[in-house]
Amino acid sequence: MTDPFVVVGGDAAGLSAASKLKRDDPDREVIVFEKGRWVSYAHCGTPYFVKGDIEHLSDLLALSPEEIEERGIDLRREHEVVAVSPDERTVTVRTADGDAVEQAYGDLLVATGAHAATSPIEGAALDGVFTLHGLDSAAAIRAFLDAPDAASVEAVGGGEYVDRETVARYGAMDPPETVALVGGGYVGIEMAEAFAAHDLDVHLFQRSAHVLQPFGEAVAERVEEHLREQGVTLHLDTEVDRLAGDDGRVTGVSFGDGPLDVDMVLVGIGIRPNTDLLAGTGVELGDSGAIATDEYGRTNVEGVYAAGDVAEDRHVVTGGPAWVPLGLTANRAGRAIGGTVAGDPTPVGDVAGTAVLKAFDLECGRTGVVDHEEAREAGFDPVSETITAGSRSGYYPGAAETTVTLTADRDSGKLLGGTIVGSDRAAIRIDTVATALAGELTVSEVERLDLAYAPPFSPVWDPVLTAAKVLG
Ligand code: FAD
Repeated sequence: MTDPFVVVGGDAAGLSAASKLKRDDPDREVIVFEKGRWVSYAHCGTPYFVKGDIEHLSDLLALSPEEIEERGIDLRREHEVVAVSPDERTVTVRTADGDAVEQAYGDLLVATGAHAATSPIEGAALDGVFTLHGLDSAAAIRAFLDAPDAASVEAVGGGEYVDRETVARYGAMDPPETVALVGGGYVGIEMAEAFAAHDLDVHLFQRSAHVLQPFGEAVAERVEEHLREQGVTLHLDTEVDRLAGDDGRVTGVSFGDGPLDVDMVLVGIGIRPNTDLLAGTGVELGDSGAIATDEYGRTNVEGVYAAGDVAEDRHVVTGGPAWVPLGLTANRAGRAIGGTVAGDPTPVGDVAGTAVLKAFDLECGRTGVVDHEEAREAGFDPVSETITAGSRSGYYPGAAETTVTLTADRDSGKLLGGTIVGSDRAAIRIDTVATALAGELTVSEVERLDLAYAPPFSPVWDPVLTAAKVLG
């Protein structure tokens, strides 16, 4: 009998693979090891849980452990895989009570995700300093903000899964008044909105000249203006090097122009793939530090697959490896690998780095290659145009300025990427650009697309078409 399909990591990539395999090959044994208590949860909803738009942590669960087991999956929570032996085809698992056990596998999927970075910031271990990665960190932040009135395990929800001790500890502290967000990426921007909703004085630090680097300048400048209008104090071109504390609790941030007193800090300076368990296995990592995979999610080691935030994929524009740690990438790759392991080889699909983001009342989107240096490195001669157009017919109520930037290769006219920002359903328009990238369209071909028009939805020329006309 074939050894089980062993999955390491019980969230998006891991459970998509396990579910697909069980559906296609019900007789195959599938074991999912998850080191935490939470499984099948939505990281993406945590900023909105902290903000208060979502009432309970358990609302962020797609499937309960019982529902996963009903699918025939052998789910083992609080089981951490600490080592992999490809020669013996076994993994070593540390159980909740500290025992180490060996488990044989026929095929192995590494779907261990990533963790939030705090290095090189000193003082990140102080109380009141958070990252936002996982439901426990969201619960602790919300308990701190709601303290002392509404902060309790029952108030945050999550029942048996929640880290009760941490929630109780933060719930007992005085609630914060001033927060420093270190990092102006998507976590920093989404959390600025969440903290503002709790009436905190919000300071956002970004070490480069603009927030939201992957979205380019046209998006960043509008977002920065909007953040200031919402009362967020921006510290651009400002690197935070140290967090100060007193009696174990954070009291300030230190940076070039001097210290700022704060009683809460959220560090959002990026994530790193969880690859430690592969040390010494010979599984190759790419330049990003994530696991190198082929178009079926296979690593260079026989029988070992990788998917989600821990893995690289192939970029649709450059054809080279790309690390795009996002939700659909993880779900899609996991599902494809489940199909492949069941005997139906299924490509995981290329990535374009398509991402959307809400920044208070603004929506932003990006896809493909928008940075000229990156385009040149990939062998293109990039040219870009930025236009601003209405989101609906000018006479129709609710029309709002929508700014689109498209980037193309000068010689071939091939579309390389695009960004968008606006307040009226702007973000979702980026899907037109992402689809054009998948079809390898030129700018002239984009200009001739038959897109939808009616006054409540769009001007006659959708803003993406207008941008293509100007660039073409
Ligand atoms: P994860 O969801 O991180 O799951 C990995 C699991 O593996 C974890 O449960 C972990 O405990 C477990 N694990 C790790 N090591 C081991 C081990 N050794 N043994 C056993 N188990 C282990 N993406 C979007 O597309 N849109 C968004 O709006 C968006 N918003 C986000 C907001 C936040 C705050 C965060 C943090 C992420 C957001 N993302 C978003 C990213 C998205 O959540 C991830 O891309 C997705 O969850 C990746 O899924 P994954 O299965 O690869 O990893």
